[in-house]
Amino acid sequence: MTKISNNHVLAADIGGTNTRMAVVNENGDILALLKKTTYCKDGRDKMIKFIVSCAEETIKESRLPKEEICGMGIGFPGPLNVETGTIFNPPNLNGWDNIPLRDILEKELRVPVAIENDANAAALGEWWKGAGSGTSSLFCITLGTGVGGGLVMDGKIWHGASSIAGEIGHTTVIRDGIQCTCGNIGCLERYACSGGILKRVNDALLREGDHAGLQPLKDLKQVSHMVMQGNEIVLNIIKETGVILGIAIANIANLLNPEIIVLFGGVTNLGENLVGPLKEEVNRRAFKKATESLRIELSQLGDNSGILGAAKNILSKL
Ligand SMILES: [Zn+2]
Repeated sequence: MTKISNNHVLAADIGGTNTRMAVVNENGDILALLKKTTYCKDGRDKMIKFIVSCAEETIKESRLPKEEICGMGIGFPGPLNVETGTIFNPPNLNGWDNIPLRDILEKELRVPVAIENDANAAALGEWWKGAGSGTSSLFCITLGTGVGGGLVMDGKIWHGASSIAGEIGHTTVIRDGIQCTCGNIGCLERYACSGGILKRVNDALLREGDHAGLQPLKDLKQVSHMVMQGNEIVLNIIKETGVILGIAIANIANLLNPEIIVLFGGVTNLGENLVGPLKEEVNRRAFKKATESLRIELSQLGDNSGILGAAKNILSKL
């Protein structure tokens, strides 16, 4: 019971592109932070070696003796079994199929390891030290290359019966909408992830624009630039994205009645043109009782949400 005041843990946010790893104390202070491009191109075994070497490097950087590291928390792209720490088959990582990552890392690092879905880890981080600090119920929506979600109630992640809870990105927002990679049609993700927005913008410019020879836009920075230049076609797609997100969030508000919904990820850089119509739509659709107590805010921790959530997850298990 008393030992907790000295706890330091390793915390990792491992993505298909970037890996961030830190040594974190029980107050949520980051003592050392490592950022690397994820080494995943040579398959699973090499990637596990990469994770172990990052862990050792991060501990070294923290200047703490290895014995002072009491555990390791990890945010990893799903799907995975949080009970056993087994990774099923993440779409962005080759060769990962039913891999007992927790057991492998516990053997290598000789500390307890807890693995959580990356969106859930971000939600827990924002609840612990970010925009949702002090709240009893939080829903966090990650808006990046995909759309994910995590629900924290009374300081605990809600996983559901089979670890699917929170997957707001694959709820239906358009009845006869765009085909999604998950097999459904009209999923929120297809409209609100960065690639989905980019495709809808480029399609609209092709359909309605009068710019012969215009090159397709390549990223959301270019999209923002077009909006700043006053392009109405692009602006309308951003506003429409806000409305579609607002529909999904109104459903969350009525279903779960959370205190706060945190928006996280690169798509939020589209700013007020996205968030303004989003909030209006939530207010238009959800119960007044649900919206008058609801805050919709941007992430406060940014890239550190996942790390701090992973840290909190293992700290709460020690
Ligand atoms: Zn889907």
